[in-house]
Amino acid sequence: MTAQSWRSLRTKKYQFSLRLFLFLNAASALFALAFPLFEVSTLPAPAIFIVAASTLLLVWHGKYADKKISLPVVSLIFGILWASHIAMKYSMLGHSDDSFLMISLLSVLFIGSIAFANNIIAFTLHSLPSVFVCLWLNGHEHGIRILYLMALPMAGIAIQNVIQKRYDRFAQQLMYKLLEERETLNGLSMLDPLTGLYNRRGLQNKLDTLLALDTHGHYVLLLDIDHFKAYNDHYGHMMGDQALIRVSAAIRDAVRSRDVVTRFGGEEFMVLLTAADQQQARVTAEQIRQKVYDLEIPHMFNESTATNVTISIGIAPLVDQDIDGAISRADKALYEAKNQGRNNTLVFDELPLA
Ligand code: GH3
Ligand code: MG
Ligand code: MG
Repeated sequence: MTAQSWRSLRTKKYQFSLRLFLFLNAASALFALAFPLFEVSTLPAPAIFIVAASTLLLVWHGKYADKKISLPVVSLIFGILWASHIAMKYSMLGHSDDSFLMISLLSVLFIGSIAFANNIIAFTLHSLPSVFVCLWLNGHEHGIRILYLMALPMAGIAIQNVIQKRYDRFAQQLMYKLLEERETLNGLSMLDPLTGLYNRRGLQNKLDTLLALDTHGHYVLLLDIDHFKAYNDHYGHMMGDQALIRVSAAIRDAVRSRDVVTRFGGEEFMVLLTAADQQQARVTAEQIRQKVYDLEIPHMFNESTATNVTISIGIAPLVDQDIDGAISRADKALYEAKNQGRNNTLVFDELPLA
């Protein structure tokens, strides 16, 4: 989006430059026809041609703005037309008049430096034919002056170019920085703010890349804290949050870095064990359960029983990339683990009903 608007801005600048150039050509040629410096018997054909061509191009470009016209080519063509206008009219004058040459040259240079304030190639191509003609007609007398008139705007445009390049580079760097920040923000929203684990979106994102790479031997572990409602009721929500943070860290600690740990719901977690077999899945689940138990977060179920915060875990293999199926099977195993008294782990394949 940002890169796109950057490009469209550049295109707009280009289009503006072209239209301004065509407009200035039409206006100057019209002016030269309407208020000629010296009357001559016939109208100079190149000036008429400039008016016609620039007006036509303006209209055409207004209609097909997306069609790209080469600025250097257009500027060279109009440059040649102006040069022939100067040469033709000068020969018609019958007497050599320097003021005609100088004023004509200046108007050509003005058009170029206004329209091509940051395009030195287009400016040069537009100006050179007239400069050559003036040098040829009156170089012996005003050669230095003619060259100076051309060099002055060229130096201005060159300096302007350098400044513009710096601005462009700065703006571009700023744009890349913004895009980078946006990436970071996207990354953050993949994480659960309380525990720092992946949220469901993060999980989905991980799954997309993971399942595309490899299809075999993944296991889904569904974890749920036992009697957590009672914990909240007894110790309050703030303490509940603290317990959630510690349990999350214990789960993360118990698995390998390539396994994906997600906060699946309030006090439910999902672990995707990558490249693991059933035995490894069972052992890892048991390690997680033990690690959480070893946190020794005190938890009074009721007035009479006191124990630690514990979790129950349901385990199921991921078959045919069917993540929903695997989660639902793990959920059944988890339900059974809860039924069997909690603080334990069960594999779906080993359930009596499976
Ligand atoms: P079970 O052993 O059957 O899982 O019982 P339970 O009480 O854990 O199950 P239940 O799903 O009924 O309750 C889950 C509780 O988890 C309810 C809610 O108060 C608590 N909980 C969910 N999300 C949060 C959270 O972000 N912070 C805190 N402090 N508590 C939460
Ligand atoms: Mg629950
Ligand atoms: Mg629970």
